[in-house]
Amino acid sequence: MTKQTLSFQAEVAQLLHLVTHSLYSNKEIFLRELISNASDACDKLRFEAINDGGLYENDSELKVKVTFDKDAKTLTITDNGIGMSAQEAIDHLGTIAKSGTKDFVSKLSGDQKADSQLIGQFGVGFYSGFIVADKITVESRRAGMQESEGVRWISGGAGDFEVETITRPVRGTSVILHLRDDAMDYASAWKLKSIIGKYSDHISLPILMEKEEWKDGELINPSDEQGGRQPGGMVKTGEWETANKGNAIWARAKKDISEEQYTEFYKQISHDFEAPLAHTHNRVEGSTEYTQLLYIPSKAPMDLFNREKSAGIKLYVKRVFIMDDAEALLPTYLRFVKGVVDSADLPLNVSRELLQESRDVKAIREGCTKRVLGMLEDLAKHDKLPEAGADGVTDVLSAEDKLEAEKNAGKYTKFYSEFGAVLKEGLGEDFANKERLAKLLRFASSTTDTATVGLADYKARMKEGQEAIYYITADTAAAAKNSPQLEVFKKKGIEVLLMTDRVDEWALNYLHDFDGTPLQSVAKGAVDLGKLQDEAEKKAAEEAAETFKPLLAKLKEALKDKAEDVRVTTRLVDSAACLVVQDDGMSTQLARMLKQAGQTAPEVKPVLEVNAEHPLVKKLDGSVHFHDLAHILFDQALLAEGGLPADPAAYVKRVNALLV
Ligand code: ADP
Repeated sequence: MTKQTLSFQAEVAQLLHLVTHSLYSNKEIFLRELISNASDACDKLRFEAINDGGLYENDSELKVKVTFDKDAKTLTITDNGIGMSAQEAIDHLGTIAKSGTKDFVSKLSGDQKADSQLIGQFGVGFYSGFIVADKITVESRRAGMQESEGVRWISGGAGDFEVETITRPVRGTSVILHLRDDAMDYASAWKLKSIIGKYSDHISLPILMEKEEWKDGELINPSDEQGGRQPGGMVKTGEWETANKGNAIWARAKKDISEEQYTEFYKQISHDFEAPLAHTHNRVEGSTEYTQLLYIPSKAPMDLFNREKSAGIKLYVKRVFIMDDAEALLPTYLRFVKGVVDSADLPLNVSRELLQESRDVKAIREGCTKRVLGMLEDLAKHDKLPEAGADGVTDVLSAEDKLEAEKNAGKYTKFYSEFGAVLKEGLGEDFANKERLAKLLRFASSTTDTATVGLADYKARMKEGQEAIYYITADTAAAAKNSPQLEVFKKKGIEVLLMTDRVDEWALNYLHDFDGTPLQSVAKGAVDLGKLQDEAEKKAAEEAAETFKPLLAKLKEALKDKAEDVRVTTRLVDSAACLVVQDDGMSTQLARMLKQAGQTAPEVKPVLEVNAEHPLVKKLDGSVHFHDLAHILFDQALLAEGGLPADPAAYVKRVNALLV
């Protein structure tokens, strides 16, 4: 292939612009990203070589080398991993394959601080090199290909890049960063070593750097390695030394690992800039032996709702990396969890198909699920600061415990606002843990604005005589809160849970009761407040139903194409009418959602319920506008729950005719 110039995918160009303009505050992470890529490339080679030993080309000592040249102003990261073919270099370094990329780029605002947060969640990987370099040269050859099939890729990080074929005797990849003037301080062994120690210590491959010595330098101040010498300079000795400790963090004892180290490791494997919300680290012994180090991120990724997206679990077998995104290790609804599982029992050449069937994997999956739920229960338990009761509980907390309590407060609420909707999927997916999951759910309610009401909290404050946990589903919090269906509950001071996540309708199909109390939609079936209604109210309702019979029959006839039935209700106080569905029917909201998603939904004909006390309803009988009023009543009930009349223009015409 002769030299050709190609354009970056539009999203890459935008991302690159951002990388060079907003990531000032955390420049040094470029090294972590590039070393991580190099290490991944070695892992991939090792994996492919299980079936094809020839790929090693008689060089099976996988390693990463970090070198720099002050005069040439370059910093180079070289690995002898899998390498790239010319086409792979074009594809992998010119486009972003990640799902949700478009969405991500569209969210960028140009505000540096906000953008750098976003970009942290997204992960910039290779492109982070442009934080410190104004030009990057990549030279590579894929393992197993001819020497003449090497590739050189060059880009200044603007709109395009060049590629050409080169001869490259060694397999693997060199990433050569041409350092910007203001990044020349990275051309220092001392600086590089300290960054490697900070971010890449756990990488199990050796990260090699050339040893340096002071030339004619005299040690003036022994406590100051840098400043104490004459500027005769450091010279390279030609010997290589390992810059990382290379012990996998998860294989170490918990007590030897600091909070910072856990956080750094998380950032390394997740490419997240933010610290995680929580982690759990355990060695499990018994019939299946494995170590798990699992993290809950602070922020949801862009593609959280993509159920195809694989979980962020890396699988190792006896510290040998096997695969990324081992989805068999956690259920889909926990796909936001990141971490590492290291098994002592699985074979090294385990495939994804094999994982699905393995009994060991099943045990690991159950164990990991339990741990994650345990971690969430723990966060939930400590979400609120202990209240200063009459006995002054908080006052007797030691300063240390107080600090701990403050550190943990609010974490579950934060978790839930990011991942709660996904957790709910578990109700339909993980029957074994349904009870535990139900306890972890949180909702907004008619009496609490924030989504912090657990089902247990709700139960604890149920009214005397209340026999069900009431809820309403709607598209938005405002629609739920102001729904006519809530009127009688508000009047009687009964709390109703407001469910506005898209997944709620579906998830609730799997949750019929909580701790023995049934869950009841206030928009389904006739209202039966049971013991909450007094005798006088019941009697009035029955009488109204009787006197309204002829009118209801007329309404039913007028609306026969729209409504399944028309009846008098006690659930309304201020509104004239509302729509409900039969007890076993699909809610109108779910039907609407399915249609929006392009799926076929059964035609749900709702029941129109009218408020016998409302002036508009009273006016109906004998009105010359009866037909129009009937339709307006129905369409308004639809509007009130966030729906749209089947024929909006006809609705407008009818209303206007009356207004005139
Ligand atoms: P990510 O690592 O998240 O996939 P990057 O932008 O860092 O994203 O890298 C894009 C792709 O380029 C990688 O997935 C990999 O296929 C390829 N790549 C990057 N660095 C190397 C390397 N040192 N050796 C081989 N392939 C690499």
